[in-house]
Amino acid sequence: MNEPTGVAADAATILFNLPDYRVISTSINAGRRQVIIETDQPPGCPSCGVISSRRKERRVQRLRDIPVAGPVEVLWSKYRWYCEERACDRLSFFESTPQVPRRARSTSRLRDQLVDAVIRSGRAVSETAAGFAVSWWMVRAAVTEACLLRLPDVDKLSPRMLGMDEHRFRSVRYFQDPATKAWTRFEPWMTTIVDLDTGQVLGVVDGRDHKGVGDWLFARPLEWRLAVQVVAIDPSARSGRRCGCGFRAQQSLLITFT
Ligand SMILES: [Zn+2]
Repeated sequence: MNEPTGVAADAATILFNLPDYRVISTSINAGRRQVIIETDQPPGCPSCGVISSRRKERRVQRLRDIPVAGPVEVLWSKYRWYCEERACDRLSFFESTPQVPRRARSTSRLRDQLVDAVIRSGRAVSETAAGFAVSWWMVRAAVTEACLLRLPDVDKLSPRMLGMDEHRFRSVRYFQDPATKAWTRFEPWMTTIVDLDTGQVLGVVDGRDHKGVGDWLFARPLEWRLAVQVVAIDPSARSGRRCGCGFRAQQSLLITFT
């Protein structure tokens, strides 16, 4: 949904180019450029998914972001919204986006660039931190987080017991069909496949249904599959509450795989 707020604001939004946000004001304070942004779509409740239309209050959150033609101070005018679903226990919630998930203080695009600088370009952590004007700890944390998803050459391993666990890596998003105006909830769920003996993550597949997992398993060599004795679905109870398949898996935690 496009809601132009004036020629200058739109130009700023295009140049700033942060997905799901628009620039609502720009200024220069003591020689430093400041940009105030807000989200460009109403969010869904994190508990029930119903899209909110009523704002409750707002606070201004400072965000660390990439330099955009030089350093920019970014302030997010962030709203708390009411959940209007009567059956939902959550009365209100602060919005979040894939670029700035809950509790994040920096944009995903900044974290991605820090990781690229260290891992792909081989720059030192201290040099990267200085280059992006962030702390050494922030670079270190971004790299550690990204490395959790670095996967082994799985076909060279021979795990006995596999665990399947579902994760939600990003916030739920909503997209409106321009023709019907209907909103669709988009859930970027992922399932991780873990070696239960070592705890190592072997693979990450898309989606919550088990088709992605099935395709992943059948892509392995036959001997690899024959060596697997047990597949545990949702080995940790915390994700079991999410959906029917997780619940069933908790009732009969281990299923044999042949
Ligand atoms: Zn709700």
